Amino acid sequence: MALYVQKFGGTSVGDPDRIREVADHVARCRKRGDEVVLVVSAMGKETDELLRLAEQVSTSKPGREMDMLITGGERKACALVSMALHDRGIESASFTGSQAGFKTDTTHRNAKILDVNPYRIREALDAGKVPVVGGSQGVSSDNDVTFFGRGGSDTTAVALAHALGADACELYTDVPGVFTTDPRLVPDARKMDHISFDELLEMTATGCPKPAMRSVELARSHGVTLHVRSAFSWVPGTWVTEEAPMERAIISAITHDTSEAKMTVSGVSDRPGVAALLFRRLADAEVNVDMIVQNVSAEGRTDISFTLPHEQVAVAASAVTSITDELGADAVITDDDIARVSLIGAGMQTNPGVAATMFETMSAHGINIEMISTSAIRISCVVREAQAEDAVAALHAAYELDKAPEDRIDV
Ligand code: ADP
Ligand code: ASP
Ligand code: MG
Repeated sequence: MALYVQKFGGTSVGDPDRIREVADHVARCRKRGDEVVLVVSAMGKETDELLRLAEQVSTSKPGREMDMLITGGERKACALVSMALHDRGIESASFTGSQAGFKTDTTHRNAKILDVNPYRIREALDAGKVPVVGGSQGVSSDNDVTFFGRGGSDTTAVALAHALGADACELYTDVPGVFTTDPRLVPDARKMDHISFDELLEMTATGCPKPAMRSVELARSHGVTLHVRSAFSWVPGTWVTEEAPMERAIISAITHDTSEAKMTVSGVSDRPGVAALLFRRLADAEVNVDMIVQNVSAEGRTDISFTLPHEQVAVAASAVTSITDELGADAVITDDDIARVSLIGAGMQTNPGVAATMFETMSAHGINIEMISTSAIRISCVVREAQAEDAVAALHAAYELDKAPEDRIDV
């Protein structure tokens, strides 16, 4: 008898029919003899709606009350799923994050898990019940309800799978697995049967929304087996494993991210300490700087560009403006219309032509590359936002990601 933690995303519990289908799915798993713990997200777009409501009644939006509000979405969903199970003749009980044993710090809207002690979940399992846990929530060291942040239900599921010693954590979503690129953008994107933790982490760090990056980090550090699969079918999805399979693809996936802006500080003095001053000031302002490029110096002056989240542009601009004299800078320019397109693949480490093919493909499609950054298994280019979708489609075709790895041409 195996134990599975199964997490169902918003779409997968989006309406009463979907909730009944989740109950049917659990009934089949139980018939097979497996034990199941469910973790559910808020129904459909409910989290967005709750955030919108808060926006309409409050400008201060106190963190404690926001968390009470948002976690209500998951609480409603887990009660409804549990009722649907009862109707199938399956004994079940719903649990809030707090009841499920999730202790967190006091950082509202983005709480970190300190400890998970799911003794009530174990008791429910021992009593032959299917526990249904509200995702993305816990109770703080101050005894207040906390929310783990967007996408936090994946993290709940992984943490619970680890604490219960489950055989696997299954993340059920509205697509059949992790794809070679966003299937909404490229219709012939291919579902991957396996992906390594390294590659999936690079994907989630560069714009792939599924699974939430934090949950992948957690799964990796605790050795939790992850299986991303469709809530609408029984077809196996994507297994996330430490080791890549033998016939590893050179390139595994293409991602894109439009959540960042570019800031350029131009004409700064080219002398020791300038970058240190600039990035210390940005760090003090809690700006998450991502890619950084510094030009070659001409006549002792240089430009420094970096990317940062859109929502931190105002804070960053005022931090930089306050030190333009010390930097010797003559302007601070912000560019909101950029996107980052990334190529991910563990196989690129031993294949020198990968970057050249990427740049040639962009050039053939008239796409200008503004910044480049690399890791051992990733190459990212900053391009105009309006050209991001073209770049993704062109690269997907150039590396033949629509084909099985063994049928692709060498790059
Ligand atoms: P859930 O609500 O089930 O937790 P999300 O809605 O957050 O899931 O994410 C699922 C969506 O992520 C899919 O509908 C898909 O369009 C999108 N997506 C983007 N890139 C990829 C990718 N490479 N592989 C799979 N899904 C992707
Ligand atoms: N419902 C929350 C969100 O959409 C948390 C989650 O389900 O992961 O972000
Ligand atoms: Mg979702």
